[in-house]
Amino acid sequence: MYAKPDSTTMKARVAKAGDAMDAALKSLSYGMSDDERRMSAVGLQGMRGANDPGRPDTTPDVAPLPESAQRVPNEVALGRPSRQEAEAAVRTLLRWAGDDPTREGLIDTPARVVKAYEQIFGGYRMDADALLERVFEDVEGYSDAVLVRDIPFYSHCEHHMVPFMGLAHIAYYPTKGVVGLSKLARVVDAFARRLQTQETMTAQIADTIESILQPRGCAVMVEAEHLCMAMRGVQKAGVSTITTQFRGVYKSDPNEQVRFLTFVRNPKG
Ligand SMILES: [Zn+2]
Repeated sequence: MYAKPDSTTMKARVAKAGDAMDAALKSLSYGMSDDERRMSAVGLQGMRGANDPGRPDTTPDVAPLPESAQRVPNEVALGRPSRQEAEAAVRTLLRWAGDDPTREGLIDTPARVVKAYEQIFGGYRMDADALLERVFEDVEGYSDAVLVRDIPFYSHCEHHMVPFMGLAHIAYYPTKGVVGLSKLARVVDAFARRLQTQETMTAQIADTIESILQPRGCAVMVEAEHLCMAMRGVQKAGVSTITTQFRGVYKSDPNEQVRFLTFVRNPKG
């Protein structure tokens, strides 16, 4: 139905995100003295290491939903079908598409699809709030904006279950400490790996940052390409849809919005 992103592309994108985080680390130093800049860069680099143990994203087969995952609809936790039922449903859809689920090439497809669903919809079992609960208070003196740009994500539209993918950009003004940069990327994942609309996803990311970190302000921009539009020819491929959410000072002060958008758009800051 759609081309699976090949692993080199994925790796390139992940590497690009790493570069982007480094760029973000550099760029968040504007308006600071040389000493401050050095301190915050060291502090944030350290945090990034502490938060990135490099272990693979292992989601248990069927995990109970954490109590704090209030943004997960209750129905999801209830009446989850068995793996066998899910595989049978895939066989039904294969037949509906017009193919024969018993032919050799498709015989293992239902099992593979169900397994893939555990990952691409793994966000339902991720607790976004908990990801942000650990803050680094030793950079309490740092009060300028933290910006993480170019976080790649893959999601599926809730209307057609077809992928949309792109980049998320997040900024916030810390009050009680800052979170590891990789945690913001995990929050994006927690909401992207669900059936979504781009608008809802953007708001959920902002809601989580606002309620857990209680920043002076928070800005989230998501730019995405929707395959359900590209495939149906409504839009040309490669066209981005952009959604934004501004909270706190980003909402009340247009200058802050301009500063955020300039950062997102201008790599040299
Ligand atoms: Zn759609």
